[in-house]
Amino acid sequence: APVSALIDRLVRPIEDWPVPGVTFRDITPLLADPEALRLVVDALVDVARTTGPIDAVLGIEARGFIFAPAIALELNAGFVPIRKAGKLPSTSFTTSYDLEYGSAELEMHRDALQPGDRVLVVDDVLATGGTMLAAADLVQQAGAQVAGNIVLIEIQALGGQEKLHPVGGSALRTY
Ligand code: IMP
Repeated sequence: APVSALIDRLVRPIEDWPVPGVTFRDITPLLADPEALRLVVDALVDVARTTGPIDAVLGIEARGFIFAPAIALELNAGFVPIRKAGKLPSTSFTTSYDLEYGSAELEMHRDALQPGDRVLVVDDVLATGGTMLAAADLVQQAGAQVAGNIVLIEIQALGGQEKLHPVGGSALRTY
């Protein structure tokens, strides 16, 4: 089955979670299915290979951590975690970004990237694009360059794609 059909079948919409009015795309049934997990990782790697030479694959806490290391292994690149504020032990770059209610901060270790590095940023879902944009700001603070943004699922109506111009985001399934 094409990977988009697997996502349709195995990513479960949860209405009104975490707050009323939001439909949360829950990827845990897909993760639990060994065949689907392999096909999705293979598809993400195929997308990653179209972006040219890559020095590091960045995963955004928490669900980016599931896929970014799997992609990094196939690309012979390293994995770099982007974490919520206060979680990283060493000196970090910080960026804040707007959420639906309030704001949040993401961090990356200062020595995680070298100036000029080309990186991929990986997450499970692209919604408004605020999170990916915040990750790009951390990459820029390090003097490195985002070569691609890769997600399983994009929620098109929320306009994340425009925020990521000109790099753009690649999704396995767009709703
Ligand atoms: P954005 O910043 O609005 O693009 O939201 C994307 C971030 O929120 C990502 O880190 C996602 O993991 C998370 N997110 C937003 N919507 C969903 C969803 O429906 N399912 C899973 N994660 C989501």
